[in-house]
Amino acid sequence: MKKNIKILKKKLKNYSYNPKLKEECGVFGVSNSKDAAALTALGLHALQHRGQEGCGIVTFDGKNYYSEKRFGLVGDNFNKEKVLKNLVGNYAIGHNRYSTTGENTLRNIQPFFADTNAGGIGVSHNGNLTNSITLRNKLVEDGAIFHTTSDTETIVQLIAKSKRNKTIDKVIDALFQIQGGYALVMLTQNTLIGVRDPYGIRPLVIGKIKDSYVFTSETCALDIIGAKYIRDVENGEVVYVEDNELKSIKPFPSRKVRPCVFEYIYFARPDSLLGGKSAYEHRKNFGIELAKENKIDGDIIVPVPDSGNAAALGFAQYLGKNFELGLIRNHYVGRTFIEPSQKIRSLGVKLKLNANKSTIKNKKIILIDDSLVRGTTSHKIVKMLYDAGAKEVHVKIACPEIRYPDFYGVDTPTKKELLAANKSNDEICEYIGAKSLDFLSIDGMYKAMGFKKRDNTYPQLTDHYFTGDYPVKPIDELGDDKITQLSLLSTGSSN
Ligand code: AMP
Repeated sequence: MKKNIKILKKKLKNYSYNPKLKEECGVFGVSNSKDAAALTALGLHALQHRGQEGCGIVTFDGKNYYSEKRFGLVGDNFNKEKVLKNLVGNYAIGHNRYSTTGENTLRNIQPFFADTNAGGIGVSHNGNLTNSITLRNKLVEDGAIFHTTSDTETIVQLIAKSKRNKTIDKVIDALFQIQGGYALVMLTQNTLIGVRDPYGIRPLVIGKIKDSYVFTSETCALDIIGAKYIRDVENGEVVYVEDNELKSIKPFPSRKVRPCVFEYIYFARPDSLLGGKSAYEHRKNFGIELAKENKIDGDIIVPVPDSGNAAALGFAQYLGKNFELGLIRNHYVGRTFIEPSQKIRSLGVKLKLNANKSTIKNKKIILIDDSLVRGTTSHKIVKMLYDAGAKEVHVKIACPEIRYPDFYGVDTPTKKELLAANKSNDEICEYIGAKSLDFLSIDGMYKAMGFKKRDNTYPQLTDHYFTGDYPVKPIDELGDDKITQLSLLSTGSSN
C-alpha cells in the first residue's frame, strides 16, 4: 500500500497537467430544431456571466458534425451569419468557458469532439472532476493521447474506451469512473444527452420549445429563446432525447440532492430559477436574514453592484432604510475574477466601480456585498467611499466566511489566499479598512433558503466553502493547503 502511494505521488508530481485549472462554465444543448445553432448561440449569450474566455458550438446534421470555437464573447463571435451558417444541422450543443489558470488556448475551448467506434460525440462540461489526474494517468499509461489540458477530455476518452455497444451505455460506463461536480451536455448521432453529478452540485435544467428539448445550466437560457422550463435534471440523473422523446436513467444509488450554495450566492443570474425560486429572491432573503442578525443604525444601504444588489435591497427593505446607489458600475468590463493575476484583478475593481459622491458624502454607510473572498473588492471600495467623503463605512457580507477552497468548478483561490481562512473578523475588518464587518451566519443562510437550520447529518447544500464539508473528496489536489492524495487513500471517496 505504502509503495503504491509513493509511486502515485511521484507520478502526480511529474505530471505536467495543471491541477489548478478550474472552470465554472455555461452549457447548452438543443434537439430537433432547424435553428439549432442560432438557439444555442442565444442560450450561450444568456449564460455569458458563467464564462467569458471562449465559446463554442458543435452541430450534427444526421451525417456530419460541425464545430466552431472562438476566444471571447458569444455576441462578438456567433452573431455573424457566416459563422452560424457553417453550423449545419438540427442538433447542437454549446459551451462558454471560464478558466482561471492554466492554458487559455483554442484547443481547450469546448465542446470537445471525438470519433468513437459508436460514432461521433461532442461534450460540453461545467464543473470540475476531482479524480481526473488519476484517471488521466491511467489512460495515458494505456496509450491514450490527450490533445488538451482540460479534465473534460478525460470524460471523452473514457467514453471512447468503453466496450459497451450503445453510446448511452458508454456514457454511463464513464460516469461510474469520474468523480466531482459536473453538468454535462453531450451530442451523439441524433441523441442529445444531459447529465448531472450524483450530488447535483452543478446545475442543469430541462426546457422545451415546440418539438425541441433544451438542456442547459440555467433557466435564463430558456427564457431568452422562449422555451418553457420543464424541470431540473435530478442529481445523478442521465436524461436524453431519442426519437424526439425525453428519456431518463438513474444509474447511481439514490441520494439526496446537495446543490452548490455558491450558485445561489453569486453564480447564477438573478433571474434564473434555483430550486423553484429565482436567485434574486434567494439573495434578497440572504439580505433580510443579514439584517435580522445585524440591526445596525446607518444612513444609507449601499450595494456593491451588481453582486450585492439583491441582498442590499432585502436588507434595506427589512429595516425600512434608504437604499442608495452609492457606487456606479461601468458595465463594459468583465468580472474582476476573470483576470488571472492578482495585480490586474485589483486594478479591475477601479475600472469597474466609481463612488457616487453626492449620495455618500457625510453619510454613515452600510455597504453590502454577496461574498468576500480575497478581500480585494471590499478593500478598494471602502477606501473609495472614504475618499469620496463617507463618514463611516460598515461592511455586511450576505454569506458566511469563506474558509475553504472549492474543487467542483467554482474559482476560489487556495486556502492561503482566502482572507477568512487566515484572519479573524477584526483582522479582516482592519485589512479592508471598514468601521465594522459582519457576515451572515451559516444557520442564517439556511434559514434564508427556507430550511429550519443546517442538517449536519446530511446537509441540504454543498457548503464546504464555509464548513469544510466536502461531499466528494478532492483526490487530485496536491499541496500543503489542499487535501492530499494520501488523505484520499486513507478516507476513500464518498462517491
Ligand atoms: P474578493 O474581492 O476577492 O473579496 O471577492 C469578492 C468579490 O468577488 C465579490 O464582489 C463577489 O461578488 C465576487 N466573487 C466571489 N466569488 C467569485 C468567483 N468565484 N468568481 C468571480 N467573482 C466572485
